[in-house]
Amino acid sequence: MKFGGSCLQDARSYTQTAEIIRIYIGKSRLVIVASAMKDITDKLIDFYVKTCNEDLGCESILNNINSIHRKLIEQLMNFESIEYEKSIIFLKKNIEELTQLGHVIKLIRPSIEIQDLIISYGEKLSTFILTQYLNSLGIKSKYFPSNELILTDDNFGNALPLLNDTEALINEDLVPLLKSEPDLTSCITGFFASTKEDKKITTLGRGGTDLTAAIIAYSLRNIFDTRVIYWKDVKGLLDADPKISKKTSLLKQISYIEAKELSFFGTKVLHPLCLDVSEKGNVPSEIRSFNEPDSDEFTTITKESVEDGNVIKAITSIYKLSMVTLESDTMIPLSGTASKLFSLLGDNNVNLVFISQSSSENNITFGIDFEDSKKVSFLLRNSDLFGKNWFRIKINNDISLVAVIGAGVLHTPGIAGKVFTTLGNNNINILAIAQGSSELNFTAIIERKDCVKAINVLYDAFII
Ligand code: ASP
Ligand code: MG
Repeated sequence: MKFGGSCLQDARSYTQTAEIIRIYIGKSRLVIVASAMKDITDKLIDFYVKTCNEDLGCESILNNINSIHRKLIEQLMNFESIEYEKSIIFLKKNIEELTQLGHVIKLIRPSIEIQDLIISYGEKLSTFILTQYLNSLGIKSKYFPSNELILTDDNFGNALPLLNDTEALINEDLVPLLKSEPDLTSCITGFFASTKEDKKITTLGRGGTDLTAAIIAYSLRNIFDTRVIYWKDVKGLLDADPKISKKTSLLKQISYIEAKELSFFGTKVLHPLCLDVSEKGNVPSEIRSFNEPDSDEFTTITKESVEDGNVIKAITSIYKLSMVTLESDTMIPLSGTASKLFSLLGDNNVNLVFISQSSSENNITFGIDFEDSKKVSFLLRNSDLFGKNWFRIKINNDISLVAVIGAGVLHTPGIAGKVFTTLGNNNINILAIAQGSSELNFTAIIERKDCVKAINVLYDAFII
């Protein structure tokens, strides 16, 4: 089970977390993965930045972090208990270490490596306190720092897990305990891990606790019948964005490939990589509501997609997008032009959202993030090849992308036709179409003024 910052923000939410754990205890072996308390990672980053800049404010940030955790400990545990005492000692020791690190930063060159080390303290504190709190309630628990269980490459700040090495380590250090003490709740820190050789702390990127949970479940899959539950402040994944669509409903069952497609188009409920890891290990996931743990309204994500007669599972959109059209009667058909174009964009870190080329081959159209529009215009107009006058460059900054999503879109006749008729009947002009990022969606590019209407009419046509 994964608990994020909003499940761990104060004494009330810690109590709710313990209530949820109680529901499952005795029924299955439990491994808990916890992130830092709400906002603590941001505060630690702020501490790091201010320390680097020798800003005097850095001391008060540590005082603030200290008092948030101290208040939590005081509210959760009886001050005469051993758990209270252990928590206070742990907090004191860790705040001292952070203070020391602050002194070190002033002496050496700042680096993302040190930043990772510093921000790992958020998870250490929240998870250790959770472990002690559970013990104080009679729920036998053990604390595991994740750098002793998860190995990554040395891409600090956004490290990638080494799945095989991690699986071996977990088999050695966690599995024996899970086997011998089925009632013990293991509490593992989320977000951080360690490099393989020199055992330096790395982090998995913001929101990385989701990924920690997926990696641990992956590593246990061959030994136990494993599933991951992500406790969130939403019920699960929805079939459209509630900010745009008048109607939405919960997706009760969806496949990993479809869920990844949803996250590509902006539904960022889970860290994107954890869907890949769970799909690879064939581990089912559930997204459940932290505030309604007993509810049967939740999303299950599995490897296989479930046929329910409806090919289209969701309608999604990217509201703000720019579209570039490169035209040239003579040049575009020449082989190598597209490759030069995409290398130029790739070398300059431009993210391509869609690409479409007409078969007459005298233009290439592609979508980019709105924020990249000026950069792309500059790159093209100053390029030796595309800046010459036999290319015409048009950039439209007022477009949106709408997509219908579902496994089997490509193999189902009539989907594209239905998108065209639906939008056409509602006077929505289609500027370009694309088979999106994969065969799981059919994408239409429209003017931004039509986006909200398009989502709603497509929802009515495909989902209701
Ligand atoms: N605490 C980390 C963050 O805020 C990791 C997480 O929340 O999953 O990014
Ligand atoms: Mg968080």
